[in-house]
Amino acid sequence: MPKTKLLLFAFIVVLVSSFFYFDLDTYLNLEYFKSQQLKIDNFYRTEPLQTALIFFAIYIAVTALSLPGAALMTLAGGAIFGLLVGTVIISFASTIGATLAFLASRLLFRDTLQEKFGQQLSAINRGIEKDGGFYLFTLRLVPAFPFFLINLLMGLTPIRTWTFYWISQFGMLAGTLVYVNAGTQIAKIDSLGGILSPGLIVSFVLLGLFPLLAKKLISVIKARQVLRKFAKPIYFDRNLIIIGAGAAGLVTAYIAAAVKAKVTLVEKHKMGGDCLYTGCVPSKALIRSAKFLSHIDRAQEFGIKSAKAEFDFADVMERVQDVIRKVEPHDSVERYTELGVECIQAEAKITSPYTVKIDGRTLTTRSIVIATGARPFVPPIEGIDKVDYYTSDSIWDLRTLPKRLLVLGGGPIGSELVQAFRRLGSSVTQVEMLPRILIREDPEISAIVMQRFQAEGVDVRVNHKAKKFLSEHGRCTLVCEILDDDSGREVSIEFDTLLVAVGRIANIKGFGLEELGIPISKTRTVETDPYLQTIYPNIFACGDVAGPFQFTHTAAHQAWYAAVNALFGNWKKFAADYSVIPWATFTDPEVARVGLNESEAMGQDIPYEVTRYGIDDLDRAIADQEAHGLIKVLTVPGKDKILGVTIVGEHAGDLIAEYVAAMRHGFGLNKILGTIHIYPTLAEANKYAAGNWKKAHAPKRLLQWVERYQNWRRG
Ligand SMILES: Cc1cc2nc3c(=O)[nH]c(=O)nc-3n(C[C@H](O)[C@H](O)[C@H](O)COP(=O)(O)OP(=O)(O)OC[C@H]3O[C@@H](n4cnc5c(N)ncnc54)[C@H](O)[C@@H]3O)c2cc1C
Repeated sequence: MPKTKLLLFAFIVVLVSSFFYFDLDTYLNLEYFKSQQLKIDNFYRTEPLQTALIFFAIYIAVTALSLPGAALMTLAGGAIFGLLVGTVIISFASTIGATLAFLASRLLFRDTLQEKFGQQLSAINRGIEKDGGFYLFTLRLVPAFPFFLINLLMGLTPIRTWTFYWISQFGMLAGTLVYVNAGTQIAKIDSLGGILSPGLIVSFVLLGLFPLLAKKLISVIKARQVLRKFAKPIYFDRNLIIIGAGAAGLVTAYIAAAVKAKVTLVEKHKMGGDCLYTGCVPSKALIRSAKFLSHIDRAQEFGIKSAKAEFDFADVMERVQDVIRKVEPHDSVERYTELGVECIQAEAKITSPYTVKIDGRTLTTRSIVIATGARPFVPPIEGIDKVDYYTSDSIWDLRTLPKRLLVLGGGPIGSELVQAFRRLGSSVTQVEMLPRILIREDPEISAIVMQRFQAEGVDVRVNHKAKKFLSEHGRCTLVCEILDDDSGREVSIEFDTLLVAVGRIANIKGFGLEELGIPISKTRTVETDPYLQTIYPNIFACGDVAGPFQFTHTAAHQAWYAAVNALFGNWKKFAADYSVIPWATFTDPEVARVGLNESEAMGQDIPYEVTRYGIDDLDRAIADQEAHGLIKVLTVPGKDKILGVTIVGEHAGDLIAEYVAAMRHGFGLNKILGTIHIYPTLAEANKYAAGNWKKAHAPKRLLQWVERYQNWRRG
């Protein structure tokens, strides 16, 4: 550190240490001030300028050195000098002090920090250069963030000193006024009755309301800032236009219509979206047929000598379509029209925050909800375009059972389809780059599913990185690099049909987001705030296009927030609550989860206890020939409060519901244990898991005494 910097640093350290060493903070509290108030008032009467200068200097010192006590001094300033003079003195003193702290932080630390973390800080620097003044103004206006930290942190950014000074003075003015005003009232408290004086009550109400009003003001300013480029229509054709009629769009439309909004739902393909046509519904229908076949294969386990299934794969796939047709009316144009939603089949394009172009027609709207979903991601692996691959979008068109199916991907979608196709008779190889399938789950859970896959004849290749596809003389091959050692070994896997299931990407292009400059997150979803609002206060996004989850039930959950915030957000907005999100993977055994699993708890350093219950011991599971799987409950150490649950086993997706309710509504394992569960059901497993927790937490000492009592009673 250069000499001047070192000297400055030492000087500050000495001053701050002296402040605490000599207990000077004892002078900066209300009681002390009140005890001295008479003297100070007298001095002010005789020496007004001197009093003001001393106060001014102390105030600057306190803020420049980031010492505690600025709030008390502001109140005291009001008490001594009154509203007008107090505000002027404090406004200048606080800004000068803040700027000195800002300069000290800049001089001492900025260069080193920028040198060391320049790359990481470049985005922040750019943001500050562009909008730093506005950020600072926001922070100054809303006194939620400690002012001394703002001074020090801003010193590390590229914001100009003069900008910092005037924005700080301007931004802090309203807060200063409110505090000084409260100070003028505090000066008048000299009895208990004074506490209830109307002036003081109004001052305190102002103190409380100020942050809320400031927050509201900021959001109004922000909204104006982004919307000012666009002409606001005098009249709006619609309250809400929703783009995309999948789970997210449908639920948004449903809610909007229920609260009597004039709402238009635009869908370019078919109402129902992915879940109905290419996702949940067809996959679960296929899984059911495949499960039926797996039972036939297991006939002897059920005491049946032999059973044989004759089937045509095309009929199974037709059944899948039949199931879709039966569910279709739930999401149909007819149903939604009857509910009061205007449904338009067309491609929508947002042309401004107030207008959407549909079929060459431009409709004006108060708000817009983007619910355009996601699509399968096809990785740019060499040669992939040379093989005819399927994705979860197109696999439903198959009518001939693939002989050798290669499934790329070990996530939920890939795994569900791997098992279904294997059970239908394909020879299936599953290729996953990571060390295990279902990577989001605990290793032991992945292992249970993987072992079942292997037992059913699936060739599971984990640690296999797909490198290139070859298609020669009608023979398709995937070349993989094996990752579990450093040898760089490669293997070739031959296949007839390829299913790519390596993840899904949000549909963010081609409907106006780029033109409006709506930011896209690192995960390539539409960037939203906790209210699901984009940078435009009247454009929202929900479902797969917004993330962070990609489930039908989370899309529907978010839709409520998007609809309510879009229609009533100018009064009250609700932040989407992701505290309890369940999901299931419908392999056999099913895997269901809510909250944390063990890997996550360990990764996040969250203390936990684990309670297990093996479903192999459950009467109903034994009777059903499904005696396998487990329940794993994570609880707060020593308490029955649930942190998370993973269930692997038959109908895990249904069983988890009880834990979801427990976590959502804050009841613990004791309550589950105290609930009657019907015998014999799989749901009893939840009670037994709670029982295991109880046994582990039995009051041992008390039980010893109870035992003595029982012995004594027997005589
Ligand atoms: C094989 C598979 C199995 C799945 N299984 C499950 C499961 O068991 N449980 C579960 O919870 N989730 C499951 N999912 C995930 C689930 O399907 C999605 O999370 C859900 O469909 C997301 O709904 P969404 O409304 O966000 O998007 P989508 O359903 O994709 O709807 C978006 C709609 O927007 C339309 N659109 C896009 N752009 C425009 C435009 N410019 N103009 C007009 N319309 C437009 C699209 O045509 C589409 O219909 C599965 C997914 C797959 C692929």
